[in-house]
Amino acid sequence: MKKVLITGAAGFLGSHLCDRFLLEGFYVIGMDNFITGDKKNIKQLKSNPNFEFIEHDVTEHISIEGELHYILHFASPASPIDYLKIPIQTLKVGSLGTHNLLGLAKAKKARLLIASTSEVYGDPLVHPQTEDYYGNVNTIGPRGVYDEAKRFQESITMAYHRFHGVETRIVRIFNTYGPRMRLNDGRVIPAFMGQALRGEDLTIFGDGSQTRSFCYIDDQVEGIFRLLFSDYVYPVNIGNPNEISISDFAEEIIKLTNTDQKVIYKDLPVNDPMQRKPDISLAKKLLDWEPKTQREEGMLKTFEYFKSLSQEDLFKREH
Ligand code: NAD
Ligand code: UDP
Repeated sequence: MKKVLITGAAGFLGSHLCDRFLLEGFYVIGMDNFITGDKKNIKQLKSNPNFEFIEHDVTEHISIEGELHYILHFASPASPIDYLKIPIQTLKVGSLGTHNLLGLAKAKKARLLIASTSEVYGDPLVHPQTEDYYGNVNTIGPRGVYDEAKRFQESITMAYHRFHGVETRIVRIFNTYGPRMRLNDGRVIPAFMGQALRGEDLTIFGDGSQTRSFCYIDDQVEGIFRLLFSDYVYPVNIGNPNEISISDFAEEIIKLTNTDQKVIYKDLPVNDPMQRKPDISLAKKLLDWEPKTQREEGMLKTFEYFKSLSQEDLFKREH
């Protein structure tokens, strides 16, 4: 049985990856320190004999007994309000954490896939974003802690690949959504859906003309799975190219949730990218992958999930 270590296992993406790898017949070790994750995301795995959980901060030395074949490094705060609240931990998990995992991969001769992000393109001047675009990041801006940690993560990963021959893969993930996102993590989908459920107005940051392209979790997991088992070492964009402005998206959410909420406008966060859309030609060619879930279907499934949460979760304010 092949063994895979998944960091960030109690988070949104990590927990779905644990489910998928167990389903595919792997032995899964989940690792997390719960800084932004939630034990509830992995409660369904507790009784699975092929799942083991280690509570650990990946910025500290990591030791795993016995064989290890694959590592997926997904630990990192991922929502702007999280990484603005815990900037040093964000920088450390992308740098020290990745260094530890590369060391582990080298020692175990394991293949390591790292979770990079569309944020490496910053506020992009090339649209849609192709993998060969170097990006436009403000290193000293408030978002720089996340963007630069992820850029460093890509660099050290390529260095370990080139210098030590470690087998590595890099996925550049574009905005992904679905069940198990944290309702109060401040990202636009949980924010709008939470507001609709609480009967509050939807908060648009800026004038709402900025765009995003939202990918459903099952499509994202499929892309990551295929990339891990491909033989391509350079970064690959995985996301849904169906782009929408935030103001149009707010209207869609009002319709979908069947509420009569209004929109209100708040300041645009510093360095908030004005446009984002993945060019997925490479993923199509290399992995024969493209997203299958239409936004309406994915949003409905996500809304059902948020509706199923308790009133306590719905009204919990973390920030
Ligand atoms: P998340 O916050 O739900 O999950 C991250 C998990 O990592 C949490 O469970 C958290 O507790 C854990 N973690 C953070 N620091 C840790 C540390 N030092 N040691 C151990 N565990 C730690 O976020 P997510 O949306 O699931 O994102 C997962 C990964 O995917 C991140 O690396 C993120 O940068 C990347 N990503 C996500 C998106 C997206 O749209 N969701 C987009 C681009 C990149
Ligand atoms: N946004 C918004 N209202 C909110 C939360 C976010 O208008 O309540 C905007 C945010 O400014 C950004 C977009 O929605 O332009 C996506 O934000 P998110 O935090 O989901 O992810 P990002 O792509 O910025 O990392």
